[in-house]
Amino acid sequence: MTEEEEKKESLPDLEENLSSLRDGGPVQETRLTLESRMTFECHPGVSCFTACCNNIDIMLTPYDVLRMKQRLDLSSTDFVEKYTRSAIEEKTGLPQLFLRMEENEKRSCPFVTPEGCSIYTDRPSMCRYYPVGQAVHRIEKDGEIVNDEFFMLIREPHCKGFEEGERTWTIAEWRENQDAAHYDEMHRRWKDLFMRQGEHSRDMDETRQALFFLASYDLDRFRRYVFESDFLKVILIDQQTQDRIRDDELELMKFAIRYLNYAFGIEESFSIDSEVAKERVARAREKEEAADIAAEQAAGAPADGAGSVPSQGDPADLAGPDS
Ligand code: SF4
Ligand code: SF4
Repeated sequence: MTEEEEKKESLPDLEENLSSLRDGGPVQETRLTLESRMTFECHPGVSCFTACCNNIDIMLTPYDVLRMKQRLDLSSTDFVEKYTRSAIEEKTGLPQLFLRMEENEKRSCPFVTPEGCSIYTDRPSMCRYYPVGQAVHRIEKDGEIVNDEFFMLIREPHCKGFEEGERTWTIAEWRENQDAAHYDEMHRRWKDLFMRQGEHSRDMDETRQALFFLASYDLDRFRRYVFESDFLKVILIDQQTQDRIRDDELELMKFAIRYLNYAFGIEESFSIDSEVAKERVARAREKEEAADIAAEQAAGAPADGAGSVPSQGDPADLAGPDS
């Protein structure tokens, strides 16, 4: 495939990845690499200071949530409830989380103040990259399906940083300056899972959606799922790992992503007790059958709206990995 053909093919995905920006947002179609250059400056002296913190949909990754909930000294459950909204991503069927904007005319970010971002050092990855957009899509290369990451500029009329700025950066320099490379590293495996899930034809059910939501965005409840259900009877992990993930939220997040990769059949990386696993699956099926019967009996009752937050019952109710 020529570079031009590859670029054309990439654009629909690019737009999809950036649909979380503004409606009809002026994403430039020029495909950029880490070596591409831009002239841009952003600081409290620019005439448009904080104009970019309104009317925007900011998608959050597990590491974004972890940093913000720690900054605000909230449980993940409280953070998610107070500051986010979720939606089901069409292609993968997976729940995505977004910062919930204020219900005012400007749709302001809840963290913007006249002095700037009140959580600046813990702001999400998308805010760090802006005005650079980041996209990844899957391409075939040398007989293998691999991730293809690229960048583009988001030039919005209200953003004067292109006109008022004089400093020139490569995308790589901008990424380092904004500490976005570190964020990329933290959510690489999670984004991989998201991308690869889009390639499966497997149906996404509510249990899988709930598991994905729990392990991705609600670490405090995921910790309970691990330590207060019979999870550790099925998934055999050594004591040292157990101690680490119980006490260290970042380690718990990495474990949760590793577990999701396992549960979604992307990687085989856990030892399991297959007898206990079989019992759990049988129990889950019984529950599903009972739920089906109850649903049939309640036929005629209104169903949950599409795109709503998946059911988040007791974590112990969630089925473990298929086995
Ligand atoms: S989190 Fe901070 S940088 Fe991001 S939109 Fe909100 S106020 Fe702006
Ligand atoms: S220059 Fe652009 S990124 Fe900086 S405050 Fe203004 S609108 Fe936001």
